[in-house]
Amino acid sequence: MSRVLVVGAGVVGLSCAVRLLEAGHRVDVVARDLPGETTSAVAAAIWYPYRAWPQDQVLAWGSRTFEVFTALATGDSAESERAGVRLVPGTEVLADPAADPWWAGAVPGLTRTQPPAGYRDAWSFATPVIEMPLYLRWLTTRVEELGGTLTRLNLSGLPTGADVVVNASGIGARLLGADLSVSPVAGQVLYVEQVGLERWWLDGAGPTYVVPRSRDIVVGGTAIEGEWSRTPSPETAQEILARATRLVPALAGARIVRHKVGLRPARPSVRLEREGRVIHCYGHGGSGVTLSWGCADEVVALAAS
Ligand SMILES: Cc1cc2nc3c(=O)[nH]c(=O)nc-3n(C[C@H](O)[C@H](O)[C@H](O)COP(=O)(O)OP(=O)(O)OC[C@H]3O[C@@H](n4cnc5c(N)ncnc54)[C@H](O)[C@@H]3O)c2cc1C
Repeated sequence: MSRVLVVGAGVVGLSCAVRLLEAGHRVDVVARDLPGETTSAVAAAIWYPYRAWPQDQVLAWGSRTFEVFTALATGDSAESERAGVRLVPGTEVLADPAADPWWAGAVPGLTRTQPPAGYRDAWSFATPVIEMPLYLRWLTTRVEELGGTLTRLNLSGLPTGADVVVNASGIGARLLGADLSVSPVAGQVLYVEQVGLERWWLDGAGPTYVVPRSRDIVVGGTAIEGEWSRTPSPETAQEILARATRLVPALAGARIVRHKVGLRPARPSVRLEREGRVIHCYGHGGSGVTLSWGCADEVVALAAS
């Protein structure tokens, strides 16, 4: 078994670390930002393929991840509560009639539903909702229980001295992988108090999404290409909330709890390949959570090759 260094403690790095440890490797995770400080901590997060390519691989990684999250959500209830993973029904609305989405095959039970006023099409399905602050803590605990470590370390290049290095540095791969094809797509969200909402809602235009969690509701969002600022804009927050309230009127008057911006690590295609001792796994765009377990399985296979 190999000594593996995983660079990155977002959802991708931690999921890879868990699967590598389960496969019997010795694993140390190093990261500039600890899990709660990463882009992953900002994710909404629902299973939903968004701004990640190529479609055939995204479908395969996404299907596998859907299965793992579903097993977690429907298995031992104490464990799914600790992990913060639930299957939640919801609806995507569309301005115009459309064919089934290209990823429909990954989702059991996607059905056409009556669109609300102002929309001309809609589909509904139950999908995993992942409460990232809880889930990242759960993943970190899994890493530690399995004998792995997590250390804060700001690297200026990929490390040497391990049999295998997994580069799961997200947007940081621009520097660590010298890869200028990774670029930020900034997303702003706000969190409001729970007002009894039990369904998620999504309108790709905007994009506008409303994701209920146990104690709050994530309201988004934006997708600004090339934007590096992580400072939330009050005007943008107002505009997001206005859009979201048109979609989900129950949000009217809900108390705002906080604001966040995250930088999605966008790339024309996810980079998942082995280059000597380095396995690159980054560039998941708006789908890092959605693809996490499928990609982690592939990293384990590459580590054995
Ligand atoms: C507003 C918003 C909503 C989202 N909603 C969803 C959703 O609903 N579903 C979904 O699937 N996805 C969603 N995403 C996308 C998802 O958050 C990302 O795809 C995912 O977080 C990428 O994970 P990652 O582990 O690759 O990167 P990150 O979480 O960014 O982690 C990268 C890690 O690498 C480390 N690193 C980088 N550079 C260095 C360095 N030089 N030295 C040491 N360590 C370094 C960082 O410190 C960090 O620990 C959303 C994103 C945003 C912004």
